[in-house]
Amino acid sequence: MNRREWIKTTGTLGVGCMAANLGSLPALAAESQAGCKWEPSVMRLNLRHTWTTTMSSSAYRDTIYVRLTSGGVTGLGEGAPIVRYHENAEEGRRAIESILPFLDGANPWQFEKLMAQVFQRVDGQFAAKAALDIAILDWVGKKLDVPLYRFLGLDAADAPITTFSIGIDTPEITRKKVLEAESFPVLKIKVGLDTDEATMAAVRSVTKKPLRVDANEGWKDKEEAVRKINWLESQGVEFIEQPMPADMIEETRWVRSHVHLPIIADEAAVNARALRKLVEAYDGVNVKLDKCGGIQEALRMIYVAKSLGMKTMLGCMVSSSISVTAAAHLSPLVDYADLDGNLLLANDPYRGVTVQKGKLVLPDGPGLGVRTQ
Ligand code: MG
Repeated sequence: MNRREWIKTTGTLGVGCMAANLGSLPALAAESQAGCKWEPSVMRLNLRHTWTTTMSSSAYRDTIYVRLTSGGVTGLGEGAPIVRYHENAEEGRRAIESILPFLDGANPWQFEKLMAQVFQRVDGQFAAKAALDIAILDWVGKKLDVPLYRFLGLDAADAPITTFSIGIDTPEITRKKVLEAESFPVLKIKVGLDTDEATMAAVRSVTKKPLRVDANEGWKDKEEAVRKINWLESQGVEFIEQPMPADMIEETRWVRSHVHLPIIADEAAVNARALRKLVEAYDGVNVKLDKCGGIQEALRMIYVAKSLGMKTMLGCMVSSSISVTAAAHLSPLVDYADLDGNLLLANDPYRGVTVQKGKLVLPDGPGLGVRTQ
């Protein structure tokens, strides 16, 4: 079949130039004609250690899981609801169910328009949106038979090292976790409670590695934040993430002018549009698919941050290898990665991105390249 015959048969010209360059034309027949089957559910993941930050403490985590099947191919997606933004997995699953009549008739090849319409139809529920967006792009990559990073024009060799995160715990367990993370060249330490000095002393008693620190909005007083950050600089810390509450932008700008360490926005940086007002207060931004609503918005955040001269980082929530691998496919674009959420699980059902001596190694299979364990 030549191109003209194919267009005549399918009646379709509406495929993106990026996709048309990558796939054979018959393979791009409009899947909306065949219909899409969307299966949202809740996936329970047990943790190796109870996980504590300034916001929550838990022994398991529920995430939103989406299967998109069309034309004989299934894409997988996942989003981890963030308690900070009042999300939970069951409400996320229900939000997807509420738009199933729309999704059933949608065309996943037109993923930009599809997700823009999802954002118009659903308020909040960014983890659910991330699960949908990841499933769509996994499906697209599988249909085109290319890994997601290649679809995006990225070089897997540029993937950075990832930190391994150490949650807030007793000094004894903190030391044990740091020793277990021996293969990671840089660690991320969670602080922000009144145990900060004991935590850092426990970490430094067993390692001299460079550290990155996340206060998760824990310090409410700008002078306290300056004192803590300057003390952390003396402890071999490279940067500090979200030292003060997200809405204290003016105070954070003041803190930034009184410290040397770079300050990275996480809770304050919810989407690409939020970045313009953060540029005076922060040196960089932590992009998470679960927080912003998926791969497409994460890419916009990364490009906007770069255009504003900000450093870029990819982070994740505790989740399976589906969500973490999706983020890892974008990691050749960023300065820093903190993509360890799958490594904290006792029962990850999937295998995708791996870590060798701290460096992220992207899978080469089509789409996300994840498979069941
Ligand atoms: Mg953070």
